[in-house]
Parts: sequence; structure tokens; C-alpha cells
Amino acid sequence: MTEINRRRFLTGAAAVGAATAVSSVASAGPARAAGTASVPVTTSTQRAVVIGSGFGGGVTALRLGQAGVKVLVLERGKWWPTGPNAQTFPHAATPDSREIFYTSWTATDAVVGELPYAGLEEKIVGDNITAVVGAGVGGGSLVYQGMTLQPTEEVFSTWFPSGYDYSELNSVYYPRVAQMLQLETAPDTLINSKTYLPARVFAENVQAAGYNLSKIPMPIDWSYALDELSGAMLPSYTNGDCAYGVNNGGKHSVDVTYIAQAQATGNVTVQILSNVTRIARGPNGTWLVYVDVTDTSGNLQSQQIITTSALFVNAGTCNTSKLLVRASAIGDIPDLPDAVGQGYGSNGDQIYLWQDNAQNLGTPQGGPVVYGSFQWDDPTIANTVVQASMPPIGVDLSGLENLLPSLAFLGQPLLLNLYSTILVGYGVSSVRGQFVYNSSTDAVDLKWPAAGDATLDARINQRITAIAGANSTLTNTNTLSNTTWHSLGGACMNSVCDLEGRVLGQRGLYVLDGALMPGTTAACNPSMTIAAIAERALDQIVRNDVGTIF
Ligand SMILES: Cc1cc2nc3c(=O)[nH]c(=O)nc-3n(C[C@H](O)[C@H](O)[C@H](O)COP(=O)(O)OP(=O)(O)OC[C@H]3O[C@@H](n4cnc5c(N)ncnc54)[C@H](O)[C@@H]3O)c2cc1C
Repeated sequence: MTEINRRRFLTGAAAVGAATAVSSVASAGPARAAGTASVPVTTSTQRAVVIGSGFGGGVTALRLGQAGVKVLVLERGKWWPTGPNAQTFPHAATPDSREIFYTSWTATDAVVGELPYAGLEEKIVGDNITAVVGAGVGGGSLVYQGMTLQPTEEVFSTWFPSGYDYSELNSVYYPRVAQMLQLETAPDTLINSKTYLPARVFAENVQAAGYNLSKIPMPIDWSYALDELSGAMLPSYTNGDCAYGVNNGGKHSVDVTYIAQAQATGNVTVQILSNVTRIARGPNGTWLVYVDVTDTSGNLQSQQIITTSALFVNAGTCNTSKLLVRASAIGDIPDLPDAVGQGYGSNGDQIYLWQDNAQNLGTPQGGPVVYGSFQWDDPTIANTVVQASMPPIGVDLSGLENLLPSLAFLGQPLLLNLYSTILVGYGVSSVRGQFVYNSSTDAVDLKWPAAGDATLDARINQRITAIAGANSTLTNTNTLSNTTWHSLGGACMNSVCDLEGRVLGQRGLYVLDGALMPGTTAACNPSMTIAAIAERALDQIVRNDVGTIF
């Protein structure tokens, strides 16, 4: 890398005929640099750069690496290594700063630990919606429950462009993802164990309400959960303590599947704690990537300007959209399609607290997810309802046992039994929001219409009410704070990108993550379709673009 001075970094846009007064303010959240801080600034050239290491980033890195392309993956978060009895991930009962990515940490967050921190989740607060997204090598797969569902042909074809051949996705690409993630459903031995009572009650109630019931394919080696039952490992699955990652391992997240195999090709380098603040079109068909390299508190350590002829913006729906919308607004990438930032959908996420005082569902509860119910017959109202374990909530009394050794049990969290569990619903909805550049803050805002998914919400509410039964109390947490974990769209196929994620009119610029989706993944959780569409695209990009465009 070549050392250049910081002033040149800050005004680098001038070199590409873009904005004149450009700071290192990140559209995806700034590193905490002092305004006058002097940090090393370097430049380099890479054949291909991938921003983000989630599903889109993982597939891209692996398939390009296998094709012999040298790839640099830039990931703003850190590695989260797991293994039996690891303490890598935070515990729901004892929250700490590992839960929160530093861009969304505020002083009111009730967490302990290194503050702020390059933690696992970023909250993007928009108008009428909050989007929760993952951070770290593996992206959302670190914290996701792991529900891995493939849409039916009818629902997929209703919501996705006709240019996709569903039979090809069905026979080649969805199975390829399933094989990579080693999908399995939970074994009955586990479901029949004590802490999986809520799953069994859900199953009975679903069938009593006349709905179909299915086991949900998960990227999990369930033998780990069975080992917990036998006492060979500390609880991690069987106590539902997996909302922020599974400490014991056995979960085939993107870091240990796609990214690990990408690195094994010898062609892929993953650079962590590297927050891309800005992307711009450079001279002679190149792309410029501006990177803040931080420590784990988000403090700026150095800056990089990377030149590449192939830039894959796979930072996840919200952060990909923000990078593109800002680049368009300030002239860093002229002539981006007008639809950049549009077509944002929430996947209709709803989370309910299901409380039944007559039914002691117990605590802790085994997780993460066993069963779901699909209502997919009518593609215009298709939706899914699942039961998810209630995270163990309680008080951490560790340390107190030192005061009085006979109170050794105080070293464990005391868990609250709320006679409750979690029901999750999602489905198709035609309502869309958008990402909009705000010139007064130089940031990009997420706009969502009030009560946007109301029609779908009513449908899910009807189903969940029937499943829960008359004696229950249901609290739709989205009425308290409208939140989604499944953001989709913003650089949608057919309006911003082609079906392989090539940004229209921008040679060498690609989007292959949730932002490419048409605001929905057809009544299923997003990850499997994001990965399958990326797998299909990479086959074509390797065949047609490698060696010609880059
Ligand atoms: C709590 C939770 C539970 C979920 N449960 C499920 C589930 O059960 N099933 C399912 O299918 N989906 C689930 N999801 C959604 C799923 O995780 C996402 O749809 C999926 O991860 C999106 O993949 P992606 O490649 O688009 O982006 P991501 O996986 O989000 O990856 C994007 C990556 O880019 C990085 N990044 C972002 N901005 C920058 C930047 N400026 N510079 C450098 N790096 C950057 C991020 O840190 C991240 O690692 C869940 C999500 C959450 C948050």
C-alpha cells in the first residue's frame, strides 16, 4: 500500500470529479475519529472488492475465489469464533456491549462491557420502522435464528421478476445453499425433552386450529443440542440462549461455511474492522472504496482508498442502499438508476409475546426454532408463523457466591418465568418504503409509511390468535416499536440491477445481497433466497464477467 496524507483522503472525490467538500462521515455510520486526528492513509489496487461478509458477501467471495479471482472482503465487524462451551456471544440474561454495533450505541443503552463496541447488531431507526441488521464476519447469520425456507413456485413467481427460471433455482441453486448450510430439522428426541415444551404446545395448537404444521429446516448440527441434554456441553440451544449467537457452535453460519471455504481457496482475504464510508466511480472504469479501519471501540486507526475494477456492494439491504443513495446524491456515482433507494420492504415481520397463565410454558426454553405453519396457498396473502424460544431473562448473580460459598447457585442467572413464549409472523405485502438522502445531515434516512403492512398484520394476527387460543394474552411487540429483522430491497432487481446484480449502466458495480430483492422473499425468511440468487448470479458472472470486466 502507498502512504498518502489524510487531507488527500478527505478530498479524494475531487480526483474523480465528484463532490468537493467530502468528509469521512460514513453513510453506514462513522468511525469515532477526532476531526483533526492524524491517522495513516494508504492506497492500494485490488482485482475485486466485496463489501460485507453476510450471505451475499460469503457466496460472492467463495465463488470468485474458486474461479481464481483474488478478492478482498471488507467487513466492519469482527470474527466471532465458537466451539463447545465458548463464551464468545453475549447471554440474553446478562446483556453486555457485545450485542450492539458501535454506530447505533447510545448512552441510554443498558449494557456493560467495552462501550461502545463492534458488537453484533446495528439498529437503524427510520420513520415508522426500526431495522435490525447483523455485523461481524458472517453478517446476519451470526445472530439469525437460522430458519431456512424456500418459497413455493407460485409465491416466488408472483413476487419475483419473470426472468428467473424457478425450476432452475429449485433444482440447482436452492439445493446448493441447503448443502452449504447443512440444513437439518430438529430430532424428536430433542423436541420431546423438557425445555422444548413450548414447541410441543405450539404444534398441538396449530393442528387444533386446523393449520398445517412443518418442522423448519435449520443450519444446525442438532447433535450439539443432544450433547447439552446429556451434560456433555453447557446449555446454549436447550436453554434458548442463542438470540445473540450460539456459543457451543454447531450452527453453520456464513463465517464457518462460505467465508471459511472462501479463505481456503487461498484467493480471498477478509479484512475486519473495516467500515466502508463511501464508494465512488474512479477513472478508467475503476471504482474507489473509502475505508475507515477501526479498533473494537470504533476508534479510527487508519484509512484506506482502494481502487478496483469489480466492486460488490454486499453490505446488507440497509447499508448497501445507504452507500448507493449517498453516492448518487453527492455525485460520487453519476447516472445511477433513479430507483436507487426505492422498493424497500420489511418482509412483514411481526413478533408476538404469547402468554397463557393456564399453561406453564416454563423457563428456560429450548431453541432456536423447531416448528412453523405455512399459509402459502394464495400467493397474494402468503404468510408464515413460527414459534421461537423465549430468551432466558433474569438477573445475573454471578460473583455473589464468593461472599457465601453455600449460595453457589447464585452464580447462575435467576430466570423469570413469564408463562410466555414467542410467536413470529412474516409474509408478503406490496407496501414499500425508501432510503432518502438528507443533505442537512449528509446521511441517508429510511422512510416507511405508518401502518405500512396493516393488511398482512391483520392476517397474521388472525392466525396467531387462532393458534394461541382463547385463554391467552397476545402482545404484538411491533405495536410498541415497529421493527423488522428482514429488510429487503433498495437496489432492486429489474429497476436498479439486472437479475445477476449488475448495477444498470455501471460496468463492474454489483449488488448481491438483500438489497437486490424485490422488497420481499415470498413469505419466507430471506437468507436462503438471497444466497440462492447470489449463487445463480455468480455462476453467470464467473462465466461472462471474469476475464472481461475484471
Ligand atoms: C435477529 C435476527 C434474526 C434473523 N433470523 C433470520 C432467520 O431465522 N432466517 C433468515 O433467513 N433470516 C433471518 N434474519 C435475516 C438475515 O440475517 C438477513 O436477511 C441476511 O443476513 C441478509 O444477508 P445479506 O448478505 O443481505 O446481509 P448481511 O448478512 O446483513 O451482511 C452484511 C454485512 O455487511 C457488513 N457491513 C455493513 N455495512 C458495512 C460497511 N459500510 N462496511 C463494511 N462492512 C459493512 C455487515 O457488518 C454485515 O456483516 C435475521 C436477522 C436478524 C437481525
